[in-house]
Amino acid sequence: MPTFSFELYPPRSARSEAALYASLPDLVAAGPEFISVTYGANGSSREPSLDVLGHILQGTNVQAMAHLTCVGSSYAQASELIRQFLDAGVTSFLALRGDPPEGSVEADSFLGDLGSAGELVQLIHRVQSEREQFAFLEVPGFPAARRITRGRKVTIAVAAFPNGHPRSRSISQDLDTLLAKEAAGANLAITQLVFHADDFLGFVDKAREAGVTMRILPGIMPVLSPQRLKRIIELTGEATPVELERRLLAASDEAEHHRIGIDHAVALGQEVIAGGATGLHLYTFNQHEPVLAVLRGAGLLDRQKEHV
Ligand code: FAD
Repeated sequence: MPTFSFELYPPRSARSEAALYASLPDLVAAGPEFISVTYGANGSSREPSLDVLGHILQGTNVQAMAHLTCVGSSYAQASELIRQFLDAGVTSFLALRGDPPEGSVEADSFLGDLGSAGELVQLIHRVQSEREQFAFLEVPGFPAARRITRGRKVTIAVAAFPNGHPRSRSISQDLDTLLAKEAAGANLAITQLVFHADDFLGFVDKAREAGVTMRILPGIMPVLSPQRLKRIIELTGEATPVELERRLLAASDEAEHHRIGIDHAVALGQEVIAGGATGLHLYTFNQHEPVLAVLRGAGLLDRQKEHV
């Protein structure tokens, strides 16, 4: 059975915080493989991200995945950040370089010590293994500690870009970058939003030919309005899905926008699974109804597990 997972972002106001925690039980009840929580560029959301992760870790039995970015950090700062998340109980990460500030060049020293996501993957492994050794020495009666800490392997996911990263010069550079992330120790890839099944499936074929063996999950979002589509395209640099845009623009009300966005995501989910995807990673916008409707439409939701 294909898996599914969800992405949340840290709330930015008391109102959105309340809405998120009202949605979380329904997302958890659906039985996701993991729930990931985004991290603001330059550490702007460290505490709010940790709060959301803490809710998942303490209140549910779902794996909580922390996105981390490293652009602008020294090795010492990035190591400290990783330690802080490990101390909070996180053992699953999405390692990202993050976007350098507009107008910067690679030689700018303020971009920090880590030049790629692959270097962050290596650093997470190093900090995790140092921490295990430390726990091994610190805890009295260390044979027990050895049993506890040994084998608590971290999951380290990375980003993949089926249509090419905006800074990439060619598809082979994207494939080489993904291969380098796996060589650094990544064991899962999650893609940038995809709108067409062929983009994802063609990319997976090329990645396998290039030697990438880790699982690759397609990033899918039900796009519920023309305004949201425009914003997503601005943020990701992806090409506009012309047919989806045309249908959203032609629709006259919110209910129809929702139906179009959900139908599009259902069809996409079904096509990628038929093509061999082992799961779907759903961008939730912190709302449970649309993504649960997508899973229901794609036949991935166990009705027994539904909260409502
Ligand atoms: P990298 O893989 O290191 O690089 C990205 C690409 O840039 C490479 O594929 C390569 O083609 C090119 N490249 C790398 N180095 C160079 C170089 N020196 N010269 C030229 N080209 C180069 N951002 C956030 O701030 N917070 C988040 O929580 C977040 N979550 C995300 C989740 C997913 C699933 C995805 C797909 C993206 C997310 N992003 C997030 C956005 C991400 O930070 C940006 O896309 C960023 O530009 C790339 O990060 P990366 O880890 O892929 O970097």
